[in-house]
Amino acid sequence: MDCLFCKIVAGEIPSHKVYEDENVYAFLDIYPCAEGHTIVLPKKHFEKFTDMGEEDAATLFASVNKIAKIVGDTLELEGMNIGINNGEIAGQTVAHVHVHIIPRRAGDGEGNMHTIVELHPPTDNLAELAEKLRKSF
Ligand code: 5GP
Ligand code: ZN
Repeated sequence: MDCLFCKIVAGEIPSHKVYEDENVYAFLDIYPCAEGHTIVLPKKHFEKFTDMGEEDAATLFASVNKIAKIVGDTLELEGMNIGINNGEIAGQTVAHVHVHIIPRRAGDGEGNMHTIVELHPPTDNLAELAEKLRKSF
């Protein structure tokens, strides 16, 4: 398969590996947002997070939890952003699901999840919206 991240997992394209086990591969982002910006991906190819089953997603996030703690402790971070650009519209550029671990440090810009999209739509329909979502499970 012509997938950049599958090739990195297979060792066909070099990467600065941070961690590997039977399910996941973690390496340093080549264009880091911050020092220590780490990418964690499942070895199994899925295009998007929402293409994964719950079991594979749980396995991925168990590893993300482990890796984030080690990265945080080792680099002596006070915090980090952990997230996924899920789909092109959300900024995903590599079509193999991956989780970003982005170290945060004082004075680094101070953005957070709330600054990705700042439409601030009306909130008078929250009950209706929640009801619609609940009914879909
Ligand atoms: P996305 O934008 O899809 O969420 O994230 C893709 C990430 O992969 C980007 O942060 C980008 O810098 C990183 N990236 C793209 N190509 C390579 C590569 O060849 N090697 C590594 N280590 N990272 C890459
Ligand atoms: Zn892939």
